[in-house]
Amino acid sequence: MRVSGDWIDNPATQAVCHAIECAGHQALFVGGCVRNALLDRPVSDIDIATDADPHSVSDIAERAGFKVAPTGIDHGTVTVIAQGIPHEVTTFRQDIETDGRRAVVAYSPHIEDDAARRDFTMNALYARRDGTVIDPLGGLPDLLARRLRFVGDADARIREDYLRILRFFRFHAIYGDPEGGIDAEGLAACARHAPAISGLSAERIGAEMRKLLAAEDPAPSVAAMERAGVLAQVLPSGDARFLAVLVHLEGGLPPRWLRRLAVLGGEDVTDRWRLSRAESRDLSHIRDALGAMSTPAVLGYRLGATLAGDTILARAALFGTAPPDDWTAEIARGASTAFPVKPADLMPALQGAALGTRLKELEAQWLQSDLRLPREALLG
Ligand code: ATP
Ligand code: MG
Repeated sequence: MRVSGDWIDNPATQAVCHAIECAGHQALFVGGCVRNALLDRPVSDIDIATDADPHSVSDIAERAGFKVAPTGIDHGTVTVIAQGIPHEVTTFRQDIETDGRRAVVAYSPHIEDDAARRDFTMNALYARRDGTVIDPLGGLPDLLARRLRFVGDADARIREDYLRILRFFRFHAIYGDPEGGIDAEGLAACARHAPAISGLSAERIGAEMRKLLAAEDPAPSVAAMERAGVLAQVLPSGDARFLAVLVHLEGGLPPRWLRRLAVLGGEDVTDRWRLSRAESRDLSHIRDALGAMSTPAVLGYRLGATLAGDTILARAALFGTAPPDDWTAEIARGASTAFPVKPADLMPALQGAALGTRLKELEAQWLQSDLRLPREALLG
């Protein structure tokens, strides 16, 4: 089995591996790039595993004329930048001790150690510079069957790092086979350890959940999370029932995690997922607009096309109604229409607070007309 793709053929990437190999070490692609190349999916970042220690990697790369950033040199990672492409080069590692959040790691000369500390079998695949796949744990059949499984004993692996619970649902959503369903053993282990999620930082929970909800169809995975008691940990009062309907209504529109989150509901999500001020504001806009029956055009005018679209779809999913036929065109009309009355139209007859009040009244009339009343009629 071989991997291929522009990323692996890139002369800069080849040169990085070549330099490490010339110094007498192994340089193997690992993780997401190998997995995605085998699944014919886009490769976004390049991880390389090596038996060279991080200081040697730095020296080798600098001598070969590459820029080096000691991104995580303490836990074995240096970033080698070649032709503007970052390559994360990490020394083979072995976990010595873990407390569920941080691991004490030691470098290892053996690929088997490195593979054994990775989370899922489909993430423990390696490839040589010429594309030959190396599969120390037998993860390839799992990947080809799109079966997400923990490396080794699921309970033990989760106890080492509780974030793996959330990664389990995320990777299943993106790479799992929806027909084959979620791995029962992994799911049961996630359910047993769900309460430990409360020990994870809000940043890490938020980052994982954003990625999960941005999957093409996160609904089956989120439903499994709910059954396992994991959703209640990350999103108390969240309700997964309407997510599948939403994804169906989206009909292949680009996924938006915030739109999906709006349909899940839940409490304190700003704190629990460490939403930015802008994210939190957008979510409130959608939630506030869900109950009010504003038309697509009015939503487009008030919220802009993106949030208006989120609101229309979320509303349809939650209330079990079809979105109006022409909703995209109507949102576009609203988003590109400006309120036709300007303060100057009412001055000098009106000033100050009275001017503000009148403008508000006229805007309300105009919204009531679905943005159709022309300026003359409003001023008439
Ligand atoms: P993507 O970057 O598309 O999210 P990825 O598989 O590259 O997917 P990363 O988070 O970049 O995921 O991690 C790279 C590799 O490091 C993974 O494929 C996996 O082998 C390993 N890894 C990352 N996080 C963990 C973890 N918490 N526990 C065990 N192994 C991990
Ligand atoms: Mg990655």
